Amino acid sequence: MTQLNATHDPARRSWVESANQAECDFPIQNLPFGIFNEGGVRRAGVALGDKVIDLQALLSHGLLDGHAAIAAHATASGRLNELMEMEKPFASALRAQLSDLFRSDGPSAMLSGARAHAETILLDMKSVSMEVPCSIGDYTDFLTSLHHTERHGRFKGLKDPLPPAFKSLPVAYHSRASSIRISGTEVVRPNGQYKDADGEVRFGPAPMMDFELELAAFIGRGNELTQPIPIDRAREHIFGYCLLNDWSAKSIQWWEQVLGPFLGKSFITSISPWIVTEEALLPFRLPAPARPAGDPPPLDHLNGKRDQSEGGIDIALEAWISTATQRSAGQDAVCITRTHLQNLYWTFGQMITHHASNGCNLRPGDLIGSGTISGESDISRACITELTNAGKDPLLVGNGEFRTALEDGDEMIFRARAAREGAVAIGFGECRGRVQPARTWPA
Ligand code: CA
Repeated sequence: MTQLNATHDPARRSWVESANQAECDFPIQNLPFGIFNEGGVRRAGVALGDKVIDLQALLSHGLLDGHAAIAAHATASGRLNELMEMEKPFASALRAQLSDLFRSDGPSAMLSGARAHAETILLDMKSVSMEVPCSIGDYTDFLTSLHHTERHGRFKGLKDPLPPAFKSLPVAYHSRASSIRISGTEVVRPNGQYKDADGEVRFGPAPMMDFELELAAFIGRGNELTQPIPIDRAREHIFGYCLLNDWSAKSIQWWEQVLGPFLGKSFITSISPWIVTEEALLPFRLPAPARPAGDPPPLDHLNGKRDQSEGGIDIALEAWISTATQRSAGQDAVCITRTHLQNLYWTFGQMITHHASNGCNLRPGDLIGSGTISGESDISRACITELTNAGKDPLLVGNGEFRTALEDGDEMIFRARAAREGAVAIGFGECRGRVQPARTWPA
């Protein structure tokens, strides 16, 4: 298991000045991995301040060696799956060498080498377009917020709003990997079947579009079919995390949902481009969220000493909305949700152990969504359905505009930061998507 090390040192600063700004998401303590596109070619990069470090350029200048060079070579395909699959010391060695190359007081030979080639190894983040960072073979979405689940149960008028299994296991469904897109991709309103206000079944542009604010884990090393993952080893299988918007056409979902969500979710899922690694998040570990008094403890296979003592992470998350009217009036986006990862009932470790507990194999690059991260308070409700009490209380989104669902032209922007006293805060960048009108049904 990776330990806190010199790369987490809060005193460490970078000679890339933008990385030292207090509000910067990508200080030298973060170093998240991503894939960018240069002239139609996919290349691996690491975010630092407002720059992207080009890993292949570092290799071509001979600035990496040993395990770090092997790790960087593994990204040459323009997908991170090979790096994700390697034993953790490889990505860790690469992180350590990057930290030494770009810290302001690094070993002088490394420092002068990196600085001499700064123009070719550092790209402006604004000038590169980002790609989905790996081949995502499977995407599973969980439902682990008690508050989100309870509210939806109440909206549906259920006598017991919480499904009986909720406190025994982290509930999930298999979602669609083929429609995962990178932040910034347009979100076309889907056509689908739904029941209208008069109880008529119709087909057409889905009227009730919603966002769901989630964090997602990328699987690193997988497990063999039939081989489960013990709870206290689950985190060894996580490469890192990104933001995820589980766009939901709730009018479709509520009509179709017999075997779980299907077309109400599978039209698109947006993710943020930078994968913040497990190692970068080490200073921000917390105990697993406390269960309300009287709740049963997890069954033994989901109850790990290590997972209970450090299965949580100190990550605050926000959702912002920018409407077409706001933009044309020159107004900034408005924050509508502020929540925290500790609002979840289950840890990512428990999700992974549960996922593999029947022997199901996880593979490098698989994506695991947390479920909507809603808390108990009003501001922590992490989708519009909750923010409006299922449409009963329209949400003021600024400038006198109200919403009970997302309208065409609405843009959602997610942000998140891990922060803790004694550590340099790190961020996730953004996950953006703008709703576009439904396509006309072909004649
Ligand atoms: Ca979801």
